[in-house]
Amino acid sequence: MRRISVLGATGSIGASTLDLIRRDRDQWRIVALTAQSRVEELAALAREFRPEIAVIGDETRLGALREALAGLPIAVAGGGAALIEAAARPAALTIAGIVGCAGLAPTMAAIEQGQTVALANKEALVSAGEVMTAAVARHGATLLPVDSEHNAIFQCLAGNRPADVRWITLTASGGPFRDWPTAALAAATPAEAVRHPNWDMGAKISVDSATMMNKGLELIEAFHLFPVGLDRLRIIVHPQSVVHSMVEFRDGSTLAQLGPSDMRVPIASALAWPARMDTPCAPLDLAAIGELTFRAPDEARFPATRLARQAAEAGGAVPGVLNAANEVAVAAFLAGRIGFTRIATMVEDVLCAYAPPAPGSLDEVMAVDEGARRHADALLEPA
Ligand code: NDP
Ligand code: MG
Repeated sequence: MRRISVLGATGSIGASTLDLIRRDRDQWRIVALTAQSRVEELAALAREFRPEIAVIGDETRLGALREALAGLPIAVAGGGAALIEAAARPAALTIAGIVGCAGLAPTMAAIEQGQTVALANKEALVSAGEVMTAAVARHGATLLPVDSEHNAIFQCLAGNRPADVRWITLTASGGPFRDWPTAALAAATPAEAVRHPNWDMGAKISVDSATMMNKGLELIEAFHLFPVGLDRLRIIVHPQSVVHSMVEFRDGSTLAQLGPSDMRVPIASALAWPARMDTPCAPLDLAAIGELTFRAPDEARFPATRLARQAAEAGGAVPGVLNAANEVAVAAFLAGRIGFTRIATMVEDVLCAYAPPAPGSLDEVMAVDEGARRHADALLEPA
């Protein structure tokens, strides 16, 4: 049996992971399951999967979790420090499925134990950048990319040398507004933004997908995961989300990974790596899909990818500032406090106003994140 922790167990990535584990129950011993506030959902998962420990990030809900799991041989804990301690428990694999920079400290705790981390939590890598990649190298940890594009690239690069790469091309669905005229975008509602045409995901990444900031964050994520240089990374819009990304080599060969738009495929690739496992996903029916189309991204309508590329070029604290400002802006949009197009302009305003020095440690990364959040909060009208 392999020991596995699922950070962010109640989320979309958590659900896809636990669905695969449920089908192959005898293979796995669950170490930790975590959530932030959804106590009932976490308790139900704990009753089913019997982890060693269940952790709720919001400490005020610890009593409710304790009550729900009373009498069971499952340790229960709450708060940020407990999330970190749970992530540091010995495990063969840790699923980093928390959303936002909030997932950084627990993910780093798993890395510092030299664990294999299946990384969905892209914001953590965007914010911490070199601090995380240096920790991976120092502690002999392994990062397996779960984000579908990066998992695709990881598969295409297997057996190849980074020096032979001409281009890495990240595909983007373009999100629900890819065909909307500029004039309509300002009035786009949260309900419209989270209704993704191809993927079923959490609210935050769905909005990021609508603004294309998701692809911007993924550009920075790819920059850290695949050391080919920023000028070899590019983005193409591919509305069908069948080709999950591709790598072109110096000899003119392009390798691509194709699959259904179901996160259980890349998650399964990480769970079984370096082997393969079955998934319940329907086989790819290319005749039914009929056409795969591609087009250049439109940065006039969706400026987020330009901002992210500039942040990656600047390096240092800038990607962390971009990420934090975006997290605040997306939350404000979902709460009905700002309009859709204000998300990107708010990120740009914070990037202009706040330029802290490059962080060299986890604490300094967290300080950059907090500073950028304060700047972004100050741009919001009082709730
Ligand atoms: P969800 O919102 O569905 O789930 C987020 C999970 O994190 C939940 O378990 C949630 O707990 C927990 N959480 C939220 N806030 C905190 C916090 N402050 N501290 C600790 N835990 C917290 O998100 P997704 O599953 O969609 O996304 C997770 C990550 O994976 C994101 O970084 C996203 O970008 C990435 N990703 C997701 C994909 C997808 O298909 N969903 C695809 C590729 C990448 P609770 O339920 O209690 O709120
Ligand atoms: Mg992705």
